Amino acid sequence: MPLVSTDAVLGPARAAGLGAPAFNVLHLETAEALVAAAERAEVPLILQISENCVRYHGSLLPLLRATLTLAEASEADVSVHLDHITDAALLREGVSAGVRSVMIDASALPYEENVATTSELTGWCHREQVYVEAELGEVGGKDGVHAPGARTDPEQAFAFVEATGVDALAVAVGSSHAMRERTAVLDKELIRSLRQRLPVPLVLHGSSGVPDGELRAAVGAGMTKINISTHLVSVFTGEVRRTLSESQSLIDSRKYVGPAREAVSREAERLLRMLGAPAS
Ligand SMILES: [Zn+2]
Repeated sequence: MPLVSTDAVLGPARAAGLGAPAFNVLHLETAEALVAAAERAEVPLILQISENCVRYHGSLLPLLRATLTLAEASEADVSVHLDHITDAALLREGVSAGVRSVMIDASALPYEENVATTSELTGWCHREQVYVEAELGEVGGKDGVHAPGARTDPEQAFAFVEATGVDALAVAVGSSHAMRERTAVLDKELIRSLRQRLPVPLVLHGSSGVPDGELRAAVGAGMTKINISTHLVSVFTGEVRRTLSESQSLIDSRKYVGPAREAVSREAERLLRMLGAPAS
């Protein structure tokens, strides 16, 4: 199966009450690991490349083209998405290169400016058949939906979706970005209210800090897109560290990156099955 749209992943998942895991691509090996995981799990996958990752590589196109190529060649349903995009030029570059899904992150702006910027870019994206996720980050200060104390108000979220026309919304329900421990507790009651009030799929950012049981409960309460990055990054690095500590003479980078790729693939497969597979 070829590259699919994010709508084709999130729409059916939302209707079925399933989760749709979205994992971040850091380099070619993570993209390979994640696509292989989706093929084994037979669960649709969203691969995402963040603006931070583009900054690390110094440009978007090499990693994006490789990721699109892997998605197109995969037997699994794979969508490719740009994550946390604040730069409109980068958005346009990605769309010219074939991306049809993006998160517009204007959440650092005051509410009215977030609405104005998100609406304008969403209008452009929809004319280009690009799926749009956005973030409402007014509560809890500058970290928006990623601040642990932040909570999204269902009525304001509804007004935001109506005003901007976005296709999916990142909401604040108790998780925060880049947590190293999986200890977050989510507000399931709020997730249920948001699911009832909003006509679009809900997105959980900062899911790396959320333990398995809480992630399953969040999906059960109506969360759809589950963004996980840091957790898989730590699996990768842990395996690199383990392999290198076992052999001081090892110099071929494939001999430690390869096992790390395999470890990420196994953990991603486990998460895909846990969150995105129908109960059998
Ligand atoms: Zn995020």
